[in-house]
Amino acid sequence: MSSELKGKVALVTGASRGLGEGAARALAHAGAKVMLVARDGALAGRVARDIAGKGGQAEAMACDVSDYAAVHKLVAETRARLGGLDILVNNAGVIEPIAEIATSDPKAWADNITINLIGAYHVIRAVLPEMLAKGGGTIVNVSSGAAYRPLEGWSAYCSGKAGLAMLTRAIELETKGRGIRVFGFSPGTIDTEMQVKIRASGMNMISKIPRGDLSPVEHAVRGLVHLCTAAADDLVGQDASMRDEPFRQRIGLG
Ligand code: NAP
Repeated sequence: MSSELKGKVALVTGASRGLGEGAARALAHAGAKVMLVARDGALAGRVARDIAGKGGQAEAMACDVSDYAAVHKLVAETRARLGGLDILVNNAGVIEPIAEIATSDPKAWADNITINLIGAYHVIRAVLPEMLAKGGGTIVNVSSGAAYRPLEGWSAYCSGKAGLAMLTRAIELETKGRGIRVFGFSPGTIDTEMQVKIRASGMNMISKIPRGDLSPVEHAVRGLVHLCTAAADDLVGQDASMRDEPFRQRIGLG
């Protein structure tokens, strides 16, 4: 793994399990100092302690990304504890509510957007001024194929991820030439707790995918860490996808 991540400070949201946990572990293994975040701070803390026990540098905090004041505090705390902020992995996300629009709960629908889109914006809003001031920083917004195609029962999730894909492009437009490396990243259909909820719903074709056919988290982690290195500079501003054969080839999975 590239040594260029050594000493960099990375903030990973949704790092208590799944893709975020995998990304935090891999970034720490590559020498980055990592802040792990989830609403369940105890769970994030357990992962951080395990990373530290294996020689990595990791801290954890409880934070709900839908609360801007809490996010602002989290970013200040990350800088204070780890000495800066170079990489944001904007990964926290929820799938629910899984429901058809006509019968969906308006509050649950709004909560999804508040986490998946507004929450992601909150973290970007909190980290971007300093990244711009120092002329450098990487932001990876974890996207989804659902940003580009509707799936029955997932109207909130698809709409939020579509909004996030546009936010990635808006950041690229506004920060061009100022050292900000921003990406969207679609991890493919990966074996996490989110997929447990999807299978249980029985809604749409994704819920029918047998667990054994899901991709391992480690593959997506490899793609995500690649975006954090200079080797991915040519992809800045784009949504990289684990379903894209040329992208898989460049990370050794082709
Ligand atoms: P997961 O296993 O359900 O993990 C989600 C993580 O996000 C957890 O750590 C969770 O911890 C955290 N989180 C949720 N809401 C949060 C909030 N309001 N504030 C802070 N943290 C929050 O999901 P995953 O599959 O790893 O998904 C990670 C990302 O990949 C998501 O953005 C998802 O949309 C995307 N994705 C996943 C798949 C897939 O097949 N799994 C496919 C495409 C895209 P707490 O609940 O403790 O907060």
